[in-house]
Amino acid sequence: MERIYLDYAATTPVKESVIEAMAEAMRLDFGNPSALYTRGRRARSLVDQARRSLASYLGLDMNGFTFTSGATEANAQILLTNARRLRKEAKGNHLITSLVEHPSVRENFKLLEEEGFEVTYLPVNCEGVVEIQALEEALRPQTVLLSVMALNNETGAIMPLARIGQILETYRAEQGLDRKIFFHTDAVQAIGKLSPEFFQHIGLDSLTGSAHKIFGPKGVGFFYQDPAIKTDPLIRGGHQERSRRAGTENVPGIVGLGQAVLELETMDSQALYSHYMDLERKLYEALDLAGIRYERNGGPSQPERSWPGIQNLYFPDILADRALIKLDLQGIEVSAGSACAAGSLEPSPVLSAMYGQERAEAKDRLKKSLRISFGPETTREEIDVLVRALATMVK
Ligand code: PMP
Repeated sequence: MERIYLDYAATTPVKESVIEAMAEAMRLDFGNPSALYTRGRRARSLVDQARRSLASYLGLDMNGFTFTSGATEANAQILLTNARRLRKEAKGNHLITSLVEHPSVRENFKLLEEEGFEVTYLPVNCEGVVEIQALEEALRPQTVLLSVMALNNETGAIMPLARIGQILETYRAEQGLDRKIFFHTDAVQAIGKLSPEFFQHIGLDSLTGSAHKIFGPKGVGFFYQDPAIKTDPLIRGGHQERSRRAGTENVPGIVGLGQAVLELETMDSQALYSHYMDLERKLYEALDLAGIRYERNGGPSQPERSWPGIQNLYFPDILADRALIKLDLQGIEVSAGSACAAGSLEPSPVLSAMYGQERAEAKDRLKKSLRISFGPETTREEIDVLVRALATMVK
């Protein structure tokens, strides 16, 4: 049975050219990048080549990029080290984030709260987009750091980062602050989907990314932090990555990430966007035709506000956990909420932030929502198969 994969937001298949580049790095370039002899220097040059590809694709200074074990580590590095450094420098202890961040961001803010920081969690509107007015109200002279993701992994909502950057700058000017409020974004889901221009010249100090969301390998990612800002390591015990991240570099993984980025450069993002819009239309048409009740959490896609490749749908007549199992038996892979939430019984914090958890309708929505996410290879026929399978589950 051909399986149908509709969970690209959880992870993506690895490109053939990525596998080849990684295999070659493992076969031929197994040297330790810290070693001074030729084999070591070759490995180091592969790491730097990947860094160059990433910097060139994102249009950011190569010296700001550090490789990590993934975006979870990269988010922890950025949030923990910068919040602690800024407080130590007596700049303040107030932090801002949103209610819909990935756990790798959210959990670090919880930890910082335990360490005595004050955190404001910005609400989102019914489209899942951060409320700008709430940000304006949250800013105070003690605010040192803000972290808002670029594109939400559960709903596809796109956050107004450029507007946020403007607000931070205006606040600094009005208050006469002699420092910037550190501005971070978790760009994991946005890289490869939104144009790199989305991140440029908007006042960002850092961003994080992950290879396995862009057709690269798992277990490797990166953070970019403005090289003019001091970078304290989170992982200590070696001078790798200019003492910003200790531990022997994952050379094959980094090579794979670099190759995945080169592949992104060759993708036609306009054509892909149209492909996902077409699949969204097809999905809604097929559901309508089959008479299945549904509603997209966050509403239909709109340019610059939501990404059509991630569809979080509420099915009033389908229980998500049962549907997942039945779909899997029929060879169809989708997810309930986010992949990380799927293994637990916790309701999705993202949908809770959008709809609340109290009202009966909201509670129902949390149990009856599926995330369907498309990739370049997804076809209209696969959507038909999915909808036929869903039709058999409607009560
Ligand atoms: N942030 C977001 C928005 C994500 O979707 C993910 C992956 N689920 C991560 C962070 C964590 O990335 P990684 O799997 O590389 O640790």
